[in-house]
Formats: sequence, C-alpha cells, structure tokens
Amino acid sequence: MTALVIAEHDHASIKPATLNTVTAALACGGDVHVLVAGANAAEAAKAAAQIAGVSKVIAADSASLAENLAENVAAQVLAIAGNYSHILFPSTANGKNVAPRVAAKLDVAQISDITKVDSPDTFERPIYAGNAIATVQSSDATKVITVRTTGFDAAAATGGSAAIETAEGVADSGKSSFVGREVTKSERPELTAAKIIVSGGRALGSAEKFTEVMAPLADKLNAGLGASRAAVDAGYAPNDWQVGQTGKIVAPQLYIAAGISGAIQHLAGMKDSKVIVAINKDEEAPIFSVADYGLVADLFVAVPQLVKAL
Ligand SMILES: Cc1cc2nc3c(=O)[nH]c(=O)nc-3n(C[C@H](O)[C@H](O)[C@H](O)COP(=O)(O)OP(=O)(O)OC[C@H]3O[C@@H](n4cnc5c(N)ncnc54)[C@H](O)[C@@H]3O)c2cc1C
Repeated sequence: MTALVIAEHDHASIKPATLNTVTAALACGGDVHVLVAGANAAEAAKAAAQIAGVSKVIAADSASLAENLAENVAAQVLAIAGNYSHILFPSTANGKNVAPRVAAKLDVAQISDITKVDSPDTFERPIYAGNAIATVQSSDATKVITVRTTGFDAAAATGGSAAIETAEGVADSGKSSFVGREVTKSERPELTAAKIIVSGGRALGSAEKFTEVMAPLADKLNAGLGASRAAVDAGYAPNDWQVGQTGKIVAPQLYIAAGISGAIQHLAGMKDSKVIVAINKDEEAPIFSVADYGLVADLFVAVPQLVKAL
C-alpha cells in the first residue's frame, strides 16, 4: 500500500499545503511518495525529498508542465497512478482542478476535503458548512482524495532523505494552452499560510476605512489580511481575502475578527484557528461563541488602541 502526494510547488520550492497533505498520506498507513510535476523543477524535487516521512520523490519534468495546466498534470498523475492505493491532492485551487480529472479517468469516486483518516479506506469530511462531519468509506481500488490542509499538521519540511526517481514527462494534451497569469503581489503573508490573520467585516463601512483601520494592525503583527464576504461584496476588500465557506479555509495561530458578526458561513472558514479574538460592539454577536477572547467595543476605537499598545 503506497500513497502518492501531488506536490504543490513553483518549480523551485514546495508550497506549505504539500506538507499537510503528506501528513494525511502518512495516516493512510503505507509508504508515501511525492510527485513533483514541473518544468526545470529539480530544486522543488530536492525540497520534496527532504520532507520527513516521504520515501520516494517522482520528478516528472516536461515543458508541458511549466504552467500547471490541469489537463497535463492529470495526465502525468494518470501515467503512474497504477502504482498507488491512494492519490492525495491538497484541497487548493490547483488540487481541486486536477483531482476530479484523475478520479473520473480512473472511474472512482473522489473523496473530497478530508479532515481525518480513520483507516486506509475510511475518512472524515465536513459537510453543511462544517456543521456536520460525514464518515466516508470507499471500496474503490484507488482512493483519489483532496485534503483540507487545516485538518492536518504540516509534516517537517526537512529531516527526510527520499530517493528521487525520474519519470518521463507527458506530452502536451493540446486541450488547453496557457495565455497569461495575473498574480496579486502583496508584502503580506498569503492567507492560507499566514500564522496570524486580521479580518474585517461589513462594519468597516468603506474600502478606505478598511485600509486605514485594519492595515496598521496587520502590519504590526505581520499578519495576513482577511475579510468577511459582506466586506468583499461591498468592495471594501478584494475577493481573494474572503474567509469562509465560499472563500478560503484558514486555521492560523491567531485570528482577529473585527466588525464581523460570525455567520456560520464565515465560521466555516476560520473556526479551527488556534486562538480567536473578536471585536464587536454587539455582545450578542455569534462570533463570540467561537472566540477565545472577546472585546465588546467599537472597532474604530479599539483597533487603533490595540495598534498603539502593540
Ligand atoms: C451560500 C453562502 C455562502 C457564504 N459564504 C460566505 C463566506 O465564505 N464568508 C463570509 O464571511 N460570509 C459568507 N456568507 C455570508 C454570511 O452569511 C454573512 O452574510 C456575512 O459573513 C456577514 O458579514 P459581516 O459579519 O461582515 O457582516 P454583518 O453580518 O453585517 O455583521 C457586521 C458586524 O459588525 C458589528 N459592528 C457594526 N459596527 C461596529 C463597530 N463600529 N465596531 C464593532 N463592531 C461593529 C455588528 O454588530 C455586526 O455583528 C455566505 C452566505 C451564503 C448564503
């Protein structure tokens, strides 16, 4: 029984989501291999070989894999899929783009967004925005799984010494081509990797106020900036800052929510944070039900005071 983890990488380094996925793969009980499908990605393969618990890295290098096109990555996974009992992807935009193609081609049911491995064929996954946990047992020969990374600790990035084996890179599928990429540049940590997140809600009232009040707090704490959907919909914050059921799922060490009511769809994205601090002027706000520290206060007063005190 061997599990294959599909690495998330930028051809030079391994992205943190891969480490949590390795932990999930180890919980499946057998050996763990990592596929690094990329172009000129030797550095990423070397980094993958150092992940604790990984026994082999498969490095597939091909120009067709340079831009992470899902059709080509899926073909690369399928080329070696026969060797594996479990194929695990992080539940990121990339992972969710490739995994269903692999599952469909293998004619198996994808097991999505797992948060726990009960046994090699039984997994837990949240449903109804995290209000219930489903236990799913699969009798498929190959388990194709996406892993909710907040459900698993990160494997140590160093300490391992896996062998690196090369696999022939697949040819371009010809089904899609890379046109361009617009990447948001930010000095702040990426939300899903940030240790601290500072989030603002509808109460901020405008994009200007959002920046004026929340950015200094994020800067002081070297935190990622997040937002509720109401704040995003109102244009106070960009779409990729949204935390929640239809946004990003995060579990930082510290999550500070200011002027966020705590609707279940927001809680679904952050309630696994280690320490939650809520600032809200309504003491009945549901966010206080998940908060470790709650401050009933006007955020326009409390947040600048907090920044000053820090
Ligand atoms: C299918 C679906 C998916 C959804 N997905 C998401 C999602 O991914 N993420 C998400 O966030 N939401 C999501 N929502 C929306 C969610 O239901 C809520 O509408 C949203 O989270 C509310 O955002 P909010 O807390 O900023 O605004 P509000 O609910 O309006 O809350 C504002 C809060 O600010 C407080 N406040 C006001 N003024 C001040 C002040 N001066 N100081 C301190 N506190 C103040 C108020 O007391 C209130 O609690 C989804 C909804 C649906 C139906």
